[in-house]
Amino acid sequence: MLIFDAHLDLAMNAMESNRDLTQPFRAIRQRESLLTDKPDRGRGTVCLPEMRRGGIGLCVATQIARFVKPSNPLPGWHSPAQAWAHTQGQLAWYRSMEAAGELVQVVDLKTLHQQLDLWSAQAQGGVQAKNASSSGTDRPAAIGYILSLEGADSLITLRHLELAYQQGLRAVGPAHYGPGIYAQGTDASGGIGTRGRELLKEMERFGLILDVTHLCDESFWETVDIFHGRLWASHSNCRALVPHHRQLSDDQIKYLIGRDAVIGCALDAWMLVPNWIRGQTTPISANLCLAQVVEHIDHICQIAGDARHVGLGSDLDGGFGREQTPQDVDTIADLARLPELLKGRGYGQEDIRQIAHGNFIRFLSEAWSGCRP
Ligand SMILES: [Zn+2]
Repeated sequence: MLIFDAHLDLAMNAMESNRDLTQPFRAIRQRESLLTDKPDRGRGTVCLPEMRRGGIGLCVATQIARFVKPSNPLPGWHSPAQAWAHTQGQLAWYRSMEAAGELVQVVDLKTLHQQLDLWSAQAQGGVQAKNASSSGTDRPAAIGYILSLEGADSLITLRHLELAYQQGLRAVGPAHYGPGIYAQGTDASGGIGTRGRELLKEMERFGLILDVTHLCDESFWETVDIFHGRLWASHSNCRALVPHHRQLSDDQIKYLIGRDAVIGCALDAWMLVPNWIRGQTTPISANLCLAQVVEHIDHICQIAGDARHVGLGSDLDGGFGREQTPQDVDTIADLARLPELLKGRGYGQEDIRQIAHGNFIRFLSEAWSGCRP
């Protein structure tokens, strides 16, 4: 079954962790086996061959670069200009993957449907999909990606938002971790201020999707009040199941459903089970399995009264690896186990299809047709 993953940091992994994502996962892990600079070294779960093996033919892929003031202890760039330049480097990697036929940028209804046709041909043929442009060769099908900006600090001015839109940017999360220029993120507090309001106005003008993931509560409510375009939460789980302000409260989930949003459930361990301590708790000690992801999916479906507002936003390459994922996930290809688990939880085939990809595809089709909920 086609899987839509609404949150991956592919370029960050290529450009900051120095991972050649075109390689098999074992080769990437092997090459990192002696590195200790990051907690997920030798344990990465995401690469392009594994995405294909799991049927992840479409994803939302980020540009991400934080700006930090001298008072901010988080890692980040010391000026928005440096952060902008970093996101442009990430874009250059996406472009080289496009040139190699590994990725294809999805920016509108036409490119969305081309990508869906490519992957449904694969499903019907029972063979690995071939690039339309590479008939006669064994090159595997390109994975479609929708470009999203996680944290907007790198936008030096609103003119840079316009430039980014022209480069194919289609969604923006105004904040990431900590205080931001345009909104306050996870672990920070406060509203969005004048610059945040100006950004939202400009995003509406370009029909950009607002990603509410990472907005702190105050910024969340202020933002959704001001912004009249389409919104989603690309990688967020349920606060009712795992208490933390990074998670969505039931009130926020209800509100998002009312705006016809889709919420992508994430596979980061601490967002799935309570009391996870980074570096101490292990997937085995917490008895963490994909079944817990199904619990978060089900919680959103119970609030909605249907299965139309939830999908996957795995975040599987968001700075962690196997040490912080469900124990039945070795690579991202294991997302393909979720349909069976949903079936076991009582979900019908049509609902499973919506959760695996249908909801996000419907959302994009509507957003790019100019529909307003
Ligand atoms: Zn994130």
